[in-house]
Amino acid sequence: MKLTVHAVAEGSRARRATLTTLHNSIETPVFMPVGTRGTVRTQTLAQLDKLGASIILANTYHLLVRPGQELFERLGGLHRWMSWPRAILTDSGGFQIFSLPNARSLGEDGAEFKSYADGRPLLLTPERSIAMQRAIGSDIMMVLDQCIDSTSSHAHATAAMELTHRWAVRSLAARGDSPQALFAIVQGACFDDLRRRSADVLTQLPFDGYAIGGLAVGETRAQREDTTELVAQLLPADRPRYLMGVGTPLDLLEAVHRGVDMFDCVLPTAWAQQGVVFTSRGKIDLRRGVHRLAEVALDPACTCEACTLYSRSYLHHLVKCREPLGWQLLAFHNLSFYLRLMAEIRAQLERGTFARFHAEQRVQLALVDQDNPPARGPRRRIGKPSTRGAFAVVTGETYSALVRIGEPLPGDPDARATRLLERSLRLAALVRGEPRVERVPESRSLVPDERPLVIWDIGLGAAHVAMALVRQLDGTEHAPVELVSFERDLDGFRLALDHQKEFAHLRHPAPHILARSGAYRRDGFVWTVCEGDIAETHVGRPRPDLVLYGLRSSAILAQLALGDAEVLHEVPS
Ligand SMILES: [Zn+2]
Repeated sequence: MKLTVHAVAEGSRARRATLTTLHNSIETPVFMPVGTRGTVRTQTLAQLDKLGASIILANTYHLLVRPGQELFERLGGLHRWMSWPRAILTDSGGFQIFSLPNARSLGEDGAEFKSYADGRPLLLTPERSIAMQRAIGSDIMMVLDQCIDSTSSHAHATAAMELTHRWAVRSLAARGDSPQALFAIVQGACFDDLRRRSADVLTQLPFDGYAIGGLAVGETRAQREDTTELVAQLLPADRPRYLMGVGTPLDLLEAVHRGVDMFDCVLPTAWAQQGVVFTSRGKIDLRRGVHRLAEVALDPACTCEACTLYSRSYLHHLVKCREPLGWQLLAFHNLSFYLRLMAEIRAQLERGTFARFHAEQRVQLALVDQDNPPARGPRRRIGKPSTRGAFAVVTGETYSALVRIGEPLPGDPDARATRLLERSLRLAALVRGEPRVERVPESRSLVPDERPLVIWDIGLGAAHVAMALVRQLDGTEHAPVELVSFERDLDGFRLALDHQKEFAHLRHPAPHILARSGAYRRDGFVWTVCEGDIAETHVGRPRPDLVLYGLRSSAILAQLALGDAEVLHEVPS
């Protein structure tokens, strides 16, 4: 197997590559439709052709239970049996050890199941899994791993990771002389030290590719993105990276941005069965009564059969009656949406425009039914406290805001942040990439372009202003910028990070990395945060060229000798 990397995006780790397998070449980033039991549910081969699927996934555990290894040995593998001419990746059964709780015991040797087909005991060991995957004849085999809940304790996660490593070594030995590729799986739950250790141990072994396992099993979106980002960076650049079992279109976009090449997920077909579809108008739930008389296309931007031949009204009826045709049409539509998104990502990577596409789509892919917005009720997510320390998240009709407990909802913070930034001519010039020689005050007598433009953001809050700046800088040519945020109490910022549903502007790696490590860096941009009283924390920080601050921070400005910095403050609208 060979991976040829064609391009890596600027301001992102996203990459465009070609993966050559035993059966065909796969253009990445790629989404692999899931065909657990040797069929992508409800979809015919002609439909998979139409979708342009270049690789599908099959499941070792389920095929071992039924039809069993012997059938594949006698009939010559899964490709021939299901008439699939392109690549197949087989999952090892590790996820089933985790997800099928019935009658299992786990030991050093492997995991014991009771077959759901006939009740007989079935021992799945690393060797048994590889033997089965060799019989299936997949292009890419996965090692057996112990997947655990991503919120497990450190001790439990360490034990599972170490077992996974020992099983990885046994899987390599069991592979023998098979020409099929073999991927290892990095585990370690949401603990950075374990993820680092797991990547370190596994990348020293001769695997053809690496998967990030143990995600989408209980962690928050921010934890998932941080772990993906960390692990993807630790994996070798010349091997494919596969994020297992993740996720929504937005998850895929964010993981591509962090350097992932391959994805699988049952969502497009599983949600289709429930009547839930992804469209250019947001995620739509066809079970809602509002679609009963809707004589409009499911997605005006889609050319699939469901969108060109039928109305939302008819599809709503099929879903309500649980007609198989409804499931089939909607599954095809959802898979089309996923594969089109990946094709568009590849095209944007080739054109060098991924960073801008990422910034736009991060908002677009989070939309929910733009034609019939669901009513906003008082419903809150469980386990997400809406207060932390002195702060609360308050949700109004069209936006949410971070406030000190007891204070009323202020104006739309995103709109205010954008207005504040727009008032900065300096920043506009900066974003356009104009030479900034004359913007360096003469008194500093610095060599132009060596010193970054330093911006102070006084009162980080929920980072509306800082993120408005980050979004402007993303994907544009700009002079080096150093952003220093000051905040007396970071509880509010951390609270906002836990509420990405309310704060779409935080769906970006930068604020999460900042919260974790105190600094975010990418080419030409550094963002740091100082917690405490600015009268003390500003000492020793690089002096600002530009200061951004809101109304409530104005009192502290007088304390600071800001010299010749340009000061921009918010004015009441
Ligand atoms: Zn469609």
